[in-house]
Amino acid sequence: MELTRKTILEDEDYLRQISIPVDFNDEKLSEEIEALKDYCLETECFALAAIQVGIPKRIVCIKQTTEEDSDEEITRDDLKVLINPEIISRKGNTKYWEACLSCLDLTGCVNRPYEMLISYQDEEGNYHEKTISGFEATVYSHEFDHLDGILHMDIADYVIEMTTEERKEFRQTHPYEIIDKDKEYQRPSQNKRYVR
Ligand SMILES: [Zn+2]
Repeated sequence: MELTRKTILEDEDYLRQISIPVDFNDEKLSEEIEALKDYCLETECFALAAIQVGIPKRIVCIKQTTEEDSDEEITRDDLKVLINPEIISRKGNTKYWEACLSCLDLTGCVNRPYEMLISYQDEEGNYHEKTISGFEATVYSHEFDHLDGILHMDIADYVIEMTTEERKEFRQTHPYEIIDKDKEYQRPSQNKRYVR
């Protein structure tokens, strides 16, 4: 099945819809998950939400959860699929200059939780609970927001347009930063919609 990347250039309203919960009786589900994995592997990204490639269902595929690329190649088995994920609790505050496949060259400095307790279903429908922290929590938080139609630029403190190369260089001097680990998470307000 052919997936098409949705971007704010052509599909901003599409990206802002709220993805629907996955029904495990859905006959298209496994085909969609496999296609999502293919896309994630073939694309330079940390992770992908299904809505970003035209599947408005609550599915997220996580590929890389470290700030730096690993020397080892990421394989299909390394991909983690989370279905119907929920955030049970979150705490702490961090900052990172995030990019997004859907937001082209817009790079936003976003406050994300340092730690989150999450629940989700795996591909077989089994329920799991997991605590994630650090950079991994930033990646998960970004993707979960997509399921609610929220883009990083909506909640960013600052947004700068830069190319992939410029961003790599910029991140050398502006790396992931932990503000605090235990304080209440200060969720950024969502009224900073970027105006092009
Ligand atoms: Zn994104």
